[in-house]
Amino acid sequence: MFQQHGCINFNREVDYNFRYKLIVTFRLTMLDTPIEYLKGIGPQRAEVLKKELRIFTYRDLLTHYPFRYVDRTKFHNINEIEEDIPFIQLKGVIERMEIVGQKKGKRLVAVFRDNTGKIELVWFKGYQWMADKLKTETKYVVFGKPTFFNGKVNIAHPEIESATAAFIDQQSAFQAVYSSTEKLKFRGLDSEGIRRMMRVLTQQLQPQHIEENLSNEVLSDHQLVSKYDALKQIHFPTNAKQLKDASLRLKFEELFYIQLRLLKLNKVRANTIQGFVFSRVGKTFNDFFSNHLPFELTGAQKRVLKEIRLDMGSGRQMNRLVQGDVGSGKTLVALMSMLLAIDNGFQACLMAPTEILAQQHFQTFKDLLQDMDLKTELLTGSSSTKERKRIHASLMDGETKILIGTHALIEDKVKFQNIGLVVIDEQHRFGVEQRAKLRAKNINPPHMLIMTATPIPRTLAMTLYGDLDTSLIDEMPPGRKPIKTVHYMENKRLAMFGFLREQIALGRQIYIVYPLIQESEKLDYQNLQQGYDNLLLEFPPPQYQVSIVHGKLTNEQKEFEMQRFIKRETQIMVATTVIEVGVNIPNASVMVIESAERFGLSQLHQLRGRVGRGAEQSYCILMTGYKLGRDSKLRMETMVRTNDGFEISEVDLKLRGPGDIEGTQQSGVMDLKLANLAQDGQILQRARQAAQTVLDEDPDLVMDKNKVYQHHLSVQHKNRPDWSKVG
Ligand code: ADP
Ligand code: MG
Repeated sequence: MFQQHGCINFNREVDYNFRYKLIVTFRLTMLDTPIEYLKGIGPQRAEVLKKELRIFTYRDLLTHYPFRYVDRTKFHNINEIEEDIPFIQLKGVIERMEIVGQKKGKRLVAVFRDNTGKIELVWFKGYQWMADKLKTETKYVVFGKPTFFNGKVNIAHPEIESATAAFIDQQSAFQAVYSSTEKLKFRGLDSEGIRRMMRVLTQQLQPQHIEENLSNEVLSDHQLVSKYDALKQIHFPTNAKQLKDASLRLKFEELFYIQLRLLKLNKVRANTIQGFVFSRVGKTFNDFFSNHLPFELTGAQKRVLKEIRLDMGSGRQMNRLVQGDVGSGKTLVALMSMLLAIDNGFQACLMAPTEILAQQHFQTFKDLLQDMDLKTELLTGSSSTKERKRIHASLMDGETKILIGTHALIEDKVKFQNIGLVVIDEQHRFGVEQRAKLRAKNINPPHMLIMTATPIPRTLAMTLYGDLDTSLIDEMPPGRKPIKTVHYMENKRLAMFGFLREQIALGRQIYIVYPLIQESEKLDYQNLQQGYDNLLLEFPPPQYQVSIVHGKLTNEQKEFEMQRFIKRETQIMVATTVIEVGVNIPNASVMVIESAERFGLSQLHQLRGRVGRGAEQSYCILMTGYKLGRDSKLRMETMVRTNDGFEISEVDLKLRGPGDIEGTQQSGVMDLKLANLAQDGQILQRARQAAQTVLDEDPDLVMDKNKVYQHHLSVQHKNRPDWSKVG
């Protein structure tokens, strides 16, 4: 078969060597056998298996894990059958049966009865054979998927066996159910067919076929079964304990290898990349701390700042993620870290995802650093050419100490004399390459501080950012009152408007946010416009003034409207989600979210975080339609119940799965076959701990017992992005 390798034409001997080499290189084993060689498969079914499930080899089949198990020791009564039971097993007799219909509609219909009722069993294929085989008034066990049709229940092509005691004895409480497809079913490879294949394969399987990829030490420390046992038992467990052991072992292994890789990456980076050493806390920092800091730092801010300081003084290049809920005061932490860079003779920059945010940071910095003689510049897409030239020059000669901006910072033209710290705000908005470019702005990579307000469940953070050090600002500045959240439907709209008038009378300002989802953009703009027009009727000028900001406005228009709101010339800001990130207007104390059911939980939480920034009691009003799906209801309930971003992110993870959460696509999380980050937090924790222990003792994985890891690390995860290059 290797001769077919297109352009290569070997003579016999070379060919033999080549083959041998291939086998050695790729360690071709029994598990690499092409799937068509499995008894009962053959080329045609193999073709479909490859196309539909990407099962090419025995190994692929073996790791096509069941997605569910059914209990075959349990029997239903016919009168208990409900629509949401996926499989039922019945014990009873066939009362009568008959072949009915014409031509293609021809089928065998059998009326099956137990003590509680009757249903129909139907065969469209092989009906003559079935009709000959089945006997009336004989006890059978029937298993299958119930279908409801015209108020009647039937089971098409059920499994049916005579109900001898022996048969019932053999029934396993955990029968594997496999995912399949229409095309596979057509070839007899429904879940049942796949299970049959799996049986054939696992019966051939010998311990020497399966390479154990965890060391004996890890296996015994964590009481894990061998890979061989696990692979057999995940498909054919005979009891609950076996199933649990098998799935624990396989999940552990998946998570262990991800963690081992991440932690190793971190170690390699620490050993090979030199970091600038910020050894002193100097004049700038101290002056700011004693004379300019407008309030006492929270305990969490102090702790995180200390973590950052230790990092930047260690000689390692820092890659640190700071997580902190909206309003927890990340900006100040960033600013003070930047002062440390300056005290040690370096420049620092801060990149924000939007122009509005960059401007706001710039303003905040200027206010806080007043009279401190630290040149701070703002560079964005709308900076003029002349302005740019001036800034570029003053960065090069080191006059500008702090640069704040948007993507414009990344451009190659932007060069620093000596950049020592890069801060990235709201990092999930930036792509991989953009961050890599910032790293390359000095001979040694500058320290990187990444700040995110999107709380990530711990399990996900450990996997997504497993190679970054993380800090958590888990405390809000004092005096904040928790935001009160309510969920209203249309019938409360007038009451809602009344409430807004009261708040405006008290001098507060209000956000009203509309969804803007790409696919339905046109409709969404219509809704926005309509909402705005209605609002003008309810809040007529000149008594009331309303701003509006959305993506179709130019930057100047947006800025103009924003400024009117900031200066309190308008009381209401109608907006699409452009205000989502970071905007800080402490006097705004009410957030109304229209069509709230169309937003995801993390987005709702982000939006709500725009209020509650001042001392006043703040409110969030979620407006939805009357008809809500189960998930939407849960989202609204969660928002009403809690202000805790981490709690919300956990619910979000459970609702959506890791796949839909930003950043996960590139992370390898999606390759997990068994482990589920929403549920397997404890296993993850243990797997990470185990990986850490292994690396602490043997960082290069050269000890005999750890060679297995060296090998499997190089085989696995070949195509993952290198997070060391992006963080
Ligand atoms: P975020 O973490 O969302 O970026 P910000 O840094 O914008 O939050 O801070 C939110 C608000 O809290 C700002 O108005 C800021 O001045 C204020 N703030 C930050 N730290 C403190 C503190 N220790 N005490 C009181 N107010 C603070
Ligand atoms: Mg912020």
